[in-house]
Amino acid sequence: MKPIQMVDLKGQYAFIKPEVDVALQEVLETTSFINGPAVREFQADLEAYLGVKHVIPCANGTDALQIALMGLGLKPGDEIITADFTFAATVEVIGLLNLTPVLVDVDPKTFNICPAEIEKAITSKTKAIIPVHLFGQSAPMDEIMELAHKHDLFVIEDNAQGIGATYTHKDGTKAKTGTIGHVAATSFFPSKNLGAYGDGGAIFTNDDDLAHLIRGIVNHGMYTRYYHDVVGVNSRLDSMQAAVLKIKLQYLDYYNERRKTAAIQYSQLLSDHPNIITPFRLADCNSHVFHQYTLRIINHDRDGLVQFLNANDIPCGVYYPVPLHAQKAYTHDGYNEADFAVTNQLVQEVISLPMHSELTLDQVEHITLKIKEFLV
Ligand SMILES: *Cc1c(COP(=O)(O)O)cnc(C)c1O
Repeated sequence: MKPIQMVDLKGQYAFIKPEVDVALQEVLETTSFINGPAVREFQADLEAYLGVKHVIPCANGTDALQIALMGLGLKPGDEIITADFTFAATVEVIGLLNLTPVLVDVDPKTFNICPAEIEKAITSKTKAIIPVHLFGQSAPMDEIMELAHKHDLFVIEDNAQGIGATYTHKDGTKAKTGTIGHVAATSFFPSKNLGAYGDGGAIFTNDDDLAHLIRGIVNHGMYTRYYHDVVGVNSRLDSMQAAVLKIKLQYLDYYNERRKTAAIQYSQLLSDHPNIITPFRLADCNSHVFHQYTLRIINHDRDGLVQFLNANDIPCGVYYPVPLHAQKAYTHDGYNEADFAVTNQLVQEVISLPMHSELTLDQVEHITLKIKEFLV
């Protein structure tokens, strides 16, 4: 058995090496390192894949979230509702723009933001909701969009972990995550489901005016060189990263299928254990792309399990060990612990197992045997 890795970037590169090497060599020869043809080609390919009108590439996923918010004309003090259980980037950009983050609890089954909690948190100052498709499981977008329409709010999807997932609306129609809200942000960090060989990100929208504004914001607010119409930033996807992403996008569905297969194997081997709750998935699994495969360990020693697996050369992660409302940078006196009962519990129970497109059945079997060996 090959050594087990949390993410196998080497194995993934080996699989596509001939194509990637040629594409990178081409960028080197042409020397169009910034805004070269590869960037436009990748953008068009991703628009077609997602079925969205506009993809605006940028430097990373955190910038993508910030720029999406900048495009919505929000004012300091406006309240933005997001999940207490997510990566900090989501709330960091809200704070950076002097907007007010309002954190709400999540659903214990899906780990995603809970519509009933969103509704309770809406005030006259609320301007937007940021659902996160956490661990690759799509958030309940129909319920969130209904609330947004009712209260006239923007919805910014944080799709950094969800790229390629398909959401099925109540009427049976389907859409890719990141194309349902007013605007979405994604990350091409190397370990994401569609990862570059460095940093990268993108903003998606179907709104022509918003797309135009955002294309200016990512480029110093310029539409004509040296004429600055709006306050912008410098946030670009470079041509090398775009060349890699253009190739990897062709394999995204294959990568996600491989992740799904590994997830189903894990769940079959672990689902009837009294100390384990396996991740929620719909029968067809399409709403989940398993950026992480995350278990809940109940009535047992989660931290002991982490140490035991690491001692047995099985990497694993705790995403995330601290709720955002309890982080030094984001906590305040107005928060009431009772409002975060689910997140407070999840941070003590969750463990994410190795998950990537190169994981093999014998590795999954070995990992699950070791977990059961510890959980006696
Ligand atoms: C990775 C991630 C981001 C940030 O992406 P970067 O490219 O690392 O800046 C934002 N939100 C979530 C949920 C993420 O997982």
